[in-house]
Amino acid sequence: MSYFVDENGYYGEFGGAYIPEMLYPNVEELRQKYVTIMQEASFQKEFKSLLKEYVGRPTPLYFAKRLSEKYNTKIYLKREDLCHTGAHKVNNTIGQILMAKRLGKTRIIAETGAGQHGVATATVCALMGLECIVYMGEIDIARQAPNVARMKMLGAKVVPALSGSRTLKDATNEAIRDWINNPVDTHYIIGSVVGPHPYPDMVARFQSVISEEIKTQLLEKENTENPDYVIACVGGGSNAAGAFYHYLDEESVQLIAVEAAGLGVDSGESAATSVLGKEGIIHGSRTLLMQTKDGQITEPYSISAGLDYPGVGPLHAHLCKSKRAEFISITDDEAMQAGLELCKLEGIIPAIESSHALAVFNMKKFKEDDVVVLNLSGRGDKDLDTYIKYFRL
Ligand SMILES: *Cc1c(COP(=O)(O)O)cnc(C)c1O
Repeated sequence: MSYFVDENGYYGEFGGAYIPEMLYPNVEELRQKYVTIMQEASFQKEFKSLLKEYVGRPTPLYFAKRLSEKYNTKIYLKREDLCHTGAHKVNNTIGQILMAKRLGKTRIIAETGAGQHGVATATVCALMGLECIVYMGEIDIARQAPNVARMKMLGAKVVPALSGSRTLKDATNEAIRDWINNPVDTHYIIGSVVGPHPYPDMVARFQSVISEEIKTQLLEKENTENPDYVIACVGGGSNAAGAFYHYLDEESVQLIAVEAAGLGVDSGESAATSVLGKEGIIHGSRTLLMQTKDGQITEPYSISAGLDYPGVGPLHAHLCKSKRAEFISITDDEAMQAGLELCKLEGIIPAIESSHALAVFNMKKFKEDDVVVLNLSGRGDKDLDTYIKYFRL
């Protein structure tokens, strides 16, 4: 069994490109060209150079000594929190802006929920001098003011989505509408391993630099490329896809995907798609998603804005169904405590998304000589308000 995408854009039974006919030319152009463009030497050279000089890669693979002592196992943190803009998302937006340029596009659109992907997109548009329009739900604009300000400072136009629940899925609908109306000059930068084929595969390839680096770094530190476990949190699934990518076919490496249980899997306020999700179609791909009996998408909940998504990408749906990865759900409370613990033990303030992954050490016992790599997807600066309110700091 392969865990990589097949030529039709499927991971097992998940994936594909379920799109309106009007969108077909755009998606088809990308599908035909993305692999060829990515493999060009000049593309690789520019991509690698920007990752090094602008993003600050390779990010360290840091042996967390005190955390390891506490849980009596060997824990390495892959420090995506040290990327420019504070998280892994920029790996993908750098890749996609270079793709857009090769395709001759001059106008960039994106959707954003909490604003992190909007900021990462606005950043690379400024870097390349391209026009940037970010669609964002009206409710999200109100509750994510600092990220809205960041996008504006970076020169992006933030357009409110006024329909439906006025959150991420409505912003996505607006972005799709825009793309249909502007098929020639516009590229749509999707922020995770979601959407119609080829997006999940393209984004996973851009993020795969994470596991590529882990292999080299672990060889230096542990004399083997392969850890016993790789742990990552999953919203749409891009940081996990990047951390898992070069280990997908290495069955000795156990993969752990961590979802947000919110107030609890059975509370009605959750984002644990692997438990609560059923097969269905969202944003152009067949995957697992949270829905009502008649197929309406359920509003997800998590304290962490980045994990507050009603589906997972098709790769993760396949990893879940095939049991290649173990899925673990972590509540708000468990994540917040684990985040605070990392601050006290290692002097690192993690993003609340990453705190969900850290909480696995309280759920699962590892052996003393296990090598565990945890992808620390982002830094906690953006979450300070939430930490302040939660801990009454
Ligand atoms: C957006 C985000 C996530 C979730 O997105 P994925 O596509 O699942 O990686 C996780 N961590 C951080 C820090 C984020 O900003």
